[in-house]
Amino acid sequence: MGTDFDVLLNPDGPSHQVGAASEALDEIVRLDEQYSVYRAESELSTLNRLAAEHRVEVEQQLFRLLRRGCALAQQTEGAFNPIAGQLIELWRRTRREERAPTESERRQAIEAARLDRVEFDDARSAVRFSAPGPRFDLGAIGKGYAVDRAAEILVEQGVENWLVHGGKSSARVRGCHVEHDGWPIALQNPLLPDRRFLTLILRDMAMSTSGTAVQWYRHQGKRYGHILDPRTGWPVEVMLSVSVIAPDAALADALSTAFFVLGVEKALSYCDNFENVGVILFPLPDDGRTLAPIIRGVPQDRLYFADPA
Ligand code: AMP
Ligand code: MG
Repeated sequence: MGTDFDVLLNPDGPSHQVGAASEALDEIVRLDEQYSVYRAESELSTLNRLAAEHRVEVEQQLFRLLRRGCALAQQTEGAFNPIAGQLIELWRRTRREERAPTESERRQAIEAARLDRVEFDDARSAVRFSAPGPRFDLGAIGKGYAVDRAAEILVEQGVENWLVHGGKSSARVRGCHVEHDGWPIALQNPLLPDRRFLTLILRDMAMSTSGTAVQWYRHQGKRYGHILDPRTGWPVEVMLSVSVIAPDAALADALSTAFFVLGVEKALSYCDNFENVGVILFPLPDDGRTLAPIIRGVPQDRLYFADPA
């Protein structure tokens, strides 16, 4: 997944907690081997290659993840789309070639990501593409999902207090860190990434952040981020950063990407419709420098703002 994962524990936890944490991290390595699209022989790459020709059976948990990903795509009007592999690949390639995609390249990649081209066979846990084009890419949900699977192992092994995160962008916590009423998680200032903007005390929840502060490039004076709107085929630039708090990290991860694409109003209405989903949105400031975060569904007494520098 191109990032580091960590498990944080309390010093006074049970003696077997370090062994449990290392098992949890081993599971993440296994998942990366299973669904990385950078590995030509991963189970997901194989599925992508063959599913337009015939039905492909998939390991059950991966099958459920793919199914859930497509359901979340339906629920977010396609703003999060786990089968947009061709579009993602197109922008990666044109970035290397220092250009933007042509109109016809973009149209073709949008067409390829049509959700109605994926068929799930629950009885066999198999997937089939009804036409060539779809390619699963779990870049926007896979880190959160891996965090959840690691969390499951820690729970199974009776570890009560922990924090698991992937690349700092997706985290899940349980219990408390020493004397706190939860685990403190810092949110960076999206304009000044080495500064903290606020700290959130999270308990038995997950959080994920999507933003383009780190991954973007400039072409002919325009800034292009790594989050794409699968409906237009263009990178989106209405938000600086979106953090989602949700009961599990896969959901938080997928929604943070979806909300980044959907923009403030739709993100807020989605958030109101779903219990236990909170957001911290940083819209792109008009003047380029004044942050005006919009916070919904996050209790005030869990937030500690950093002093303005
Ligand atoms: P995240 O950092 O979770 O927002 O995920 C961003 C990554 O997911 C990108 O680097 C792409 O690989 C992929 N991606 C970009 N846009 C989308 C989208 N709208 N839906 C699903 N995956 C996307
Ligand atoms: Mg995401």
